[in-house]
Amino acid sequence: MDALRLLSRSTGLKTSNSKPLPQRLPSASGHGPGEDISDSVSSRKRKRDSASTGEVSRDEKGVQPLSEAEVRQVQKKYRIKIVDLNSFRKSSELSESRKVQKEQSRLYPQPLTSFDQIRHRSVNKSLLRNVSTQAYFEPTEVQMATIPLFLPENEASNEPNLLTIAPTGSGKTLAFLIPLIEKISRSHRQGDDRSERHVSAIILAPTRELMSQIVNEGRKLCLSTGVNITAMRKGMRLYEGHSPMDKDDSDNDDDAEEDEGLETLPKDSTVVKSDILVSTPMSLVHALNPSWKEDESSLVHPLPNIETLIFDEADVLLDPLFRAQTLAVWSACTSPLLRISMWSATIGSNIEELAVQTISERQKVLKIRRSQRPPLLRTIIGLKDTSLPTISHKLTYVATESGKLLGMRQLLHPSRPTPAGEKKEAATAPLRPPFLVFTQTIDRAQSLYDELRYDIPAAAGGLSRIAVLHSSLPDKTRSKIMQDFRLGKIWILITTDLLSRGVDFRGVNVVVNYDIPNTVASYVHRAGRTGRAGREGGVCVSFYTKEDIQYVKGIANIIAASEKVQVHSDSPTGVPNGNSSTVSNTPKAQGIQPWLLHALPSVSKSTRKDLKQHGVESRRAIHGDDDEKTKRMKRKAKIGTQSGYEKREVNRKRGAIEHSQRAKEEPHAQNKSDEWEGFG
Ligand code: ADP
Ligand code: MG
Repeated sequence: MDALRLLSRSTGLKTSNSKPLPQRLPSASGHGPGEDISDSVSSRKRKRDSASTGEVSRDEKGVQPLSEAEVRQVQKKYRIKIVDLNSFRKSSELSESRKVQKEQSRLYPQPLTSFDQIRHRSVNKSLLRNVSTQAYFEPTEVQMATIPLFLPENEASNEPNLLTIAPTGSGKTLAFLIPLIEKISRSHRQGDDRSERHVSAIILAPTRELMSQIVNEGRKLCLSTGVNITAMRKGMRLYEGHSPMDKDDSDNDDDAEEDEGLETLPKDSTVVKSDILVSTPMSLVHALNPSWKEDESSLVHPLPNIETLIFDEADVLLDPLFRAQTLAVWSACTSPLLRISMWSATIGSNIEELAVQTISERQKVLKIRRSQRPPLLRTIIGLKDTSLPTISHKLTYVATESGKLLGMRQLLHPSRPTPAGEKKEAATAPLRPPFLVFTQTIDRAQSLYDELRYDIPAAAGGLSRIAVLHSSLPDKTRSKIMQDFRLGKIWILITTDLLSRGVDFRGVNVVVNYDIPNTVASYVHRAGRTGRAGREGGVCVSFYTKEDIQYVKGIANIIAASEKVQVHSDSPTGVPNGNSSTVSNTPKAQGIQPWLLHALPSVSKSTRKDLKQHGVESRRAIHGDDDEKTKRMKRKAKIGTQSGYEKREVNRKRGAIEHSQRAKEEPHAQNKSDEWEGFG
């Protein structure tokens, strides 16, 4: 199939009636679509009778598509790049200059600048109502760019395979759910026998938490559409003759209805009738072959009815940790009609290569002729692999592990006296909860929790305000903690990279990298737990010690790049397209001085690889075969050594001293302002 045919698709763009943006939107460039899209196109003179001019055709509702020049303008403004990867790769083979290659493979399909544009068309009305009921009035950039690629203007065979790279919190979930629900609803409308309903789409996500979030989001969009979505559960039957696994896991809580939106396992264990199944790769692979092992000969039961496969956080799913399971699920999808889309804020070139190769190999295995292969597109929003411009970053040198603990307490209790010699920065700009705190390992998350749990006085909610979440906890506990954090009952959540991907806690104000992340991508994702959906004021604080200096350059580069975008967006003249009305209130660049970037050592490839696989050495678990020196180093890096009783006592005394100090300094200070003063 010719990807260029996508160009002919119309979203029925109403150029002159674009409504003003009702709210600030997730945006890669610091301003959202819809704000002034009409500026760029409203001056265009419409041709009244397209038939007579033969130049631009209106659709049956009298709505005129944008010209290519206008689409280019829109793409430039919102930093959207859509590339036909097949043609890009072909021209690479011909070794043309990279710039020419890039230009030749760019595509300019009609963007979706407002959800209103699809309202009059044959898209499921309940789906559109569900979109607006949830106050999604205007599409974000990623939705603007990708939704039209899947809309039912053209024949289904032209639906592309797609790779999308768009910033954290920019609305990728909706971008893949809306077209998916519409696709399934369309096939129902076209006479699919409902009694024959089966799973026709699979969404894979790396963690249980993200999986439940997608199901929750999907349920709201599916209301009254006739389409349904479900999460993979233990014991589910996926095909006739399938005898589900015994529920032998330690956390045998799956009979219960769970708060994070997962439904009760059907008691009769019939083959699951849902349209969309959301799963982690491991759960699904084990449902398809309970004795599956990570070797190439381990086969899984085929799923010939799957026509859509979606990888959320695709780079993690294709990373060595999950790769075998993910590829096993992919190979189980044997329909020649299968379309795959991959979504993440970070897809490196090696992962892209793997994805493209696998798509092409699958097409060969399924004997799909070249002429029948669907387009293969890549959409990038904003700058590839950078952090959001709405987040401010703070890279804090703390020298030692104990320095981190001091630094952490300083963040939580900004009114406490700072250690001599330190700047009083935190006291002047107190950070408000919720805090999401990342450590390198489960053990360290647990130790940090043990260390900090008595820090919060009973009057502020005490122990109930702080929690730890990691994969060793039972599923039910994990769900409850997620729910309490979302509800604002928990103010400080200490966790591992389990929560670094995809989870959407709208209100997180502060992300703390108590331990530096193992990769630059992980930094982008951890930081991306704040500043979501265009929210301003999010802060990402990263502590680094002497030992970390060798690893920090990659993070510093990311921060510098995102600050550059920030400064650019804030400048009245420097905004892309010179739009001064979109000046943001984002905190100004403060983190990375150029001298620091120069001073930090560069990281070798092998060091990077080692860090990625194992983390910083001193923070790894102690192994029996470690030599004495390593053991000593690891012991020294452990978080905290006091018993719970000692911690409580120390905290009680500290609280009393602070209280009397404050009373002396400011006798009438209580309730003077509503500034966050920490938990003390
Ligand atoms: P991503 O997957 O890109 O990290 P999500 O899909 O989790 O981002 O969305 C981030 C937040 O943005 C969510 O809270 C979601 O409800 C919100 N959101 C998504 N689309 C829109 C929109 N069109 N308008 C306003 N908010 C949106
Ligand atoms: Mg996401």
